Amino acid sequence: MNPSVDISYPLEKFNLDTVNRVVKVSKTPGGKGLNVTRVLKQLNDEVVATGFIGGALGTDIQKKLLEKGIKNNFFEISGETRNCIAILHEGNQTEILEKGPTITKSESDNFLEHFEKLVKSKEIKIIAISGSLPDGLEINYYSKMIEICEKYKKSVVLDCSGKALLEVLKNEYKPKVIKPNTEELSQLIGKDVSKNPDELKKVLKDKLFEKIEWIIVSLGADGAFAKHNDKFYKVNVPNIKVVNPVGSGDSTVAGITSAIYENASDENLLRKANVLGMLNAMEKLTGFVNLENYDKLFNEVEILEI
Ligand code: ADP
Repeated sequence: MNPSVDISYPLEKFNLDTVNRVVKVSKTPGGKGLNVTRVLKQLNDEVVATGFIGGALGTDIQKKLLEKGIKNNFFEISGETRNCIAILHEGNQTEILEKGPTITKSESDNFLEHFEKLVKSKEIKIIAISGSLPDGLEINYYSKMIEICEKYKKSVVLDCSGKALLEVLKNEYKPKVIKPNTEELSQLIGKDVSKNPDELKKVLKDKLFEKIEWIIVSLGADGAFAKHNDKFYKVNVPNIKVVNPVGSGDSTVAGITSAIYENASDENLLRKANVLGMLNAMEKLTGFVNLENYDKLFNEVEILEI
């Protein structure tokens, strides 16, 4: 709902309080939702990106997505789409993240109509919703979107955190899947959660998660822990050469969405989701996977029902 044009400024040295000149600038459509979109496109899945965009940067996002053959159907707002800047220097990543536009009441209402038109289309089979809510939207906005999806019997994979997620969990309309990491899970239940499978099993039995079909807790290098209805799984992943893990969770969300669309078995869903997370971590770019290594990693992932 709050995409960005992500700017990367690589600098040999970042000098404070003076001029820094950048030679190699990259500007790409960003935000969690667009990372998911990009990975789905690389899997050759038919995907349409939507959300709020505005101003020249909004136009730039549409243009860049189309250049990559990614269909989009955004809703235009009066505010301006944001920039997010990452300064890469001396092995560090200093980020400057704009908050983004404030959505007006009428834009908020009208987007739901725009979204409903998309959701009810026969071509739309499943909806992935990722990221935080921009200012101006009510905290239960995702619940409203999920209610629309439920009206048309379309499943939702939701990857958000904090109050927005809590609100969804308390609401009667449920996403099919949520994918918190342990930090987000801890925030949700108000106490530190470790990566220990026994502890995770206990936590996921909490009433808060009732009626959520799949809860997939991603654990970085430790793979994942998942609950599907009454079944629990620990996913172990092989050692990989990590280049940049930013966006691995989004890549995992793309894998989950794609696997549900394909009616994959539990085991294959978990394999696909984790392999895509790993493949993203092995690349410099965010929301990019090199599928050459897919099959090898797919066979190396271990799924244990526990
Ligand atoms: P998030 O970005 O949401 O915090 P994670 O960091 O848990 O998500 O990454 C998502 C998935 O990507 C993990 O479940 C795992 O399969 C894979 N992954 C991420 N980092 C690593 C790593 N260092 N080694 C192996 N796999 C990784």
